[in-house]
Order: sequence, then structure tokens, then C-alpha cells
Amino acid sequence: MRLGDEQAAIFEVQAALIEDPEWRDPIFGQVARGVRPEVAVAESTDALAAEIRAIPDEYLQQRAIDILDLGQRVLRLLGPGEVASLADLLDGPDVIVAAHDLTPSETLALEPGVVKAIVTEGGGRTSHTAILARQLGIPAVVGIPGLLATVRNGLVVAVDGDEGYCDLEPTGDIARRFSAAAPARDRPLLHAPVRTSDGVEVHVLANAATPNDVRRAIDAGADGIGLYRTEFLFAGDELPDEKVQESIYCEAAAAASGRPITFRTLDVGGDKDAPLLELEQELNPFLGVRGVRFSLARPELFSSQLRALTRTAVRYPNVRVMVPMLTVLEELDLVRDLAPDATFPLGAMVEVPAAAILASELAKTADFLSVGTNDLTQYVLAVDRTNERLSSLYDELNPAVVRLLGSIAAAAAATGTEAGVCGELAGRPLAAPLLLGLGYRHLSVVPPQVQNVKRAITACTLASAEVLAGQALRATRTVHVAQLLQPT
Ligand code: PEP
Ligand code: MG
Repeated sequence: MRLGDEQAAIFEVQAALIEDPEWRDPIFGQVARGVRPEVAVAESTDALAAEIRAIPDEYLQQRAIDILDLGQRVLRLLGPGEVASLADLLDGPDVIVAAHDLTPSETLALEPGVVKAIVTEGGGRTSHTAILARQLGIPAVVGIPGLLATVRNGLVVAVDGDEGYCDLEPTGDIARRFSAAAPARDRPLLHAPVRTSDGVEVHVLANAATPNDVRRAIDAGADGIGLYRTEFLFAGDELPDEKVQESIYCEAAAAASGRPITFRTLDVGGDKDAPLLELEQELNPFLGVRGVRFSLARPELFSSQLRALTRTAVRYPNVRVMVPMLTVLEELDLVRDLAPDATFPLGAMVEVPAAAILASELAKTADFLSVGTNDLTQYVLAVDRTNERLSSLYDELNPAVVRLLGSIAAAAAATGTEAGVCGELAGRPLAAPLLLGLGYRHLSVVPPQVQNVKRAITACTLASAEVLAGQALRATRTVHVAQLLQPT
């Protein structure tokens, strides 16, 4: 398997869809009436995909591609023999795939070495094409209006997947900048913490959810794991008991090979479901019983996780633990009370505005701070992070978010407390100088970005990063912050 469990879940959904009566019953019905199976599959698939596209919710609309993927795969099996796949049609060393949209299995069949980038007319940031491409390390820009009317074979296209930038037929400076960027695979892997060109050390860690993710991240040169999402363990069809948890945490901690690994305690609720934990239905789940609020409401479950982590830390001193969605200082005290024998450093995630505003106080009681920019952005801007209709308003470079990031780093520095960033913003190489300039020295990123972020750090000086951060802190519009990050 090339990817992680999170990505495998996309295909588990397809496996479940095959059993879905909404898709399957019309097929069986038509076949019973004498319709050819291929026709029945195609018609049922198209009808269900059209129904999903008609739902007035862009996130759900994007799930139509999963239905079409399932239909195509079944049609292939029913077909007369080998049908050329998209991957078979590609030839030449520098391929950019332009499509209306790609199904998850089409995306997965693309070889990262052969396909340099993917550009699509359809899809949004949460589309499965975008998620899988990111994990494969193939730059992808999705949702480009009018793409197929312009693009043609042989066209030179500049694609920056990190920044969602695509230029069909670039000229001048832009063409020069993109041609100068050497392909990642031709450059030596940077292990160990890197330094800015004026000598400031920065740790680039990775985000993970399974022991395999940890191995892959360390192989990719990560300086440790800055965020291990333990909730994936609880999202399956069996709840892990304390022993199972301990063995998985130990496997992950061993895979980090002595480098720090920060386990985040259970973070369910909001966008993270765990059916077996039977979360209550709520009107506003993102403002509801999620993260540490859920854990504290289920002290037996939470104590058992903390005991498993405590025992893991006894065997692996590289273990650290952090608590998601802290709102008030008392929550951290309650976590400490539930883990009386803990020897691990206990950190606080800063992702609720109240925690950000009280960062000075939090920095005095927590052993370290880790800023979850994904949630912090959603709460500062009052924009649901999964709502595609508001995706243009959801921007981590909004000046209000940038100023808050600056004040958290300053508060942590005043007490000498380590502050890192583990949200998606940390994995954007162009944002690295901004985060450094604001004072962050620990960035935890998606594994394919480890090397790119390390290179961005080695290419800048702290002095220039601080000038940039100063300008960003004075900016009043998101677009101005974004302009500051563009290379000159
Ligand atoms: C965040 O909110 O930035 C974060 C890292 O946590 P998650 O995305 O898992 O909520
Ligand atoms: Mg979060």
C-alpha cells in the first residue's frame, strides 16, 4: 500500500457503496427485466451521481465522483477485456494531466515520477483527487474554470500545488521561476533539523495517524512527529482496548527512532466521527462536545487512553502528549488529574480563540503549545472548515489569523515555552518564512511537504523572515499577506 489508512478509507467508502441499495437495487431490477448488466450499471450510476450533484452542498456534490468511480470499475470488470487505463495512455517524461475531474482510482494509478502535475476543472480542496494527489506528492490544482476550453496537447503549464496556482503557457519571470525549480527527486534528502542561512535551527516534523505513517515520515526526513492523530484508532468498526492502544502507541513511538513523537489525545466530534463512540447529535457539532470536551465527558475512556500513553512513555521517552480543543485552563488541570503517573511532557493545542487569547497563561502551565491553524482559522473567521461554499473566506493568511499567530508565538517566547504549528499552514513552503519570522521553530507538516518546507527554510534568513512577518502583521487584507509570501 502506497498511502495511509486515511486514504484507504476513500476506497472503503466505495466498498460500502457496492452494497448500497440506492445504487444496487435499480441494477438488479433492470437486469431482472432483461436489461444488459453494463447498461444497468451505467444508468444506475449516472442517475445516483446526478442526484448527488443536485444536492445544494458542494462538499456532497464532490462525492458524485466516487459513485462514478465505482461504476467505471464495475463496468471494467463486466467489459470484454483489457481497457486502456488513463495511466496507460500517458507517454513522455513530463506529463501534466488535465481533466474535467479524476476519480480516486484514476488518481491513484498515476505514477508520481511520470505525472508532474494534475489540473482539473472540477473538484474543490476537499475533493478526493486533491487529497490523494497531495498524499502521492503530485502537485494538483483543482477547480480551474474554463480549463478544458484552453488546454491542448503540448501546452507548457506551470503548476504550484502548494499555493493552488496554475498558469497555462507561462511567460517571462514566471516561466523562468518554474523552470529553475529542480524536481524534488533529484535533490539530496535533508535529514536532521535544518538551519536558515543565518544559522537558526528549525525542526520540521510530520503529521501521522498510524505507525506506518510514522515510518514513512521518518524515511521522508521528518525530525519527528509533531501531531499523531489518535482518533483514527477509534473510527473503525472495533474500539481498541487499553492493551491494543498501548501496543499501537508503542509501535508508533518505536518507529520514530528516538525522535520526538507527539500523540494528540482523542479528538472526535465536529468533522471527526467515530460511530462506535456514539456521539450525540448536536445542532452545531463544531461548537459542541468535541476534542477534550468529549474526552472529559467520558472519563473512563479518556483515563484508559492516558494510561496507555503513560505506559508507552515509560518505554519510549521520546513520547509527548497534547490535548486538542482546549478552551479554558481548567481543562488542562483536569487532564493532569486523570493522568497522575504521567511522565510525558503535556502540551496544549491552541485552536480555539480563547486559548489563543490566553496563550501567555497557557504557556505557563503547558509544557509546550502547538497551534492547530485549521481549527483556529475556522473559529477566528466563523467559517466552517468543511463548507466549500465559504472556502474563499476560509484563509489562514487572513490578517486576523496572522496577528493571532504572532501573539501566540510572542506569548510562548516570553515564558520560554516551545510553540509549534501543526495545521495545514505549516506545510505550505511559501508560508515557512512567515511562521519563522513570527517566532515558530517547530513546524509539523504532511509528509510529502517535509523536504519542500526544509528547503524553504534553508533558503531564507531569520532577518528577512522577521521583516516579512512585520509587514504581514501590519497588513489589513488577506491578499496583501499572500502577496508578501510570493517569491520576488
Ligand atoms: C488543526 O485544527 O489545525 C489540527 C492540526 O487538527 P485537525 O485538523 O486534526 O483538527
Ligand atoms: Mg483541530
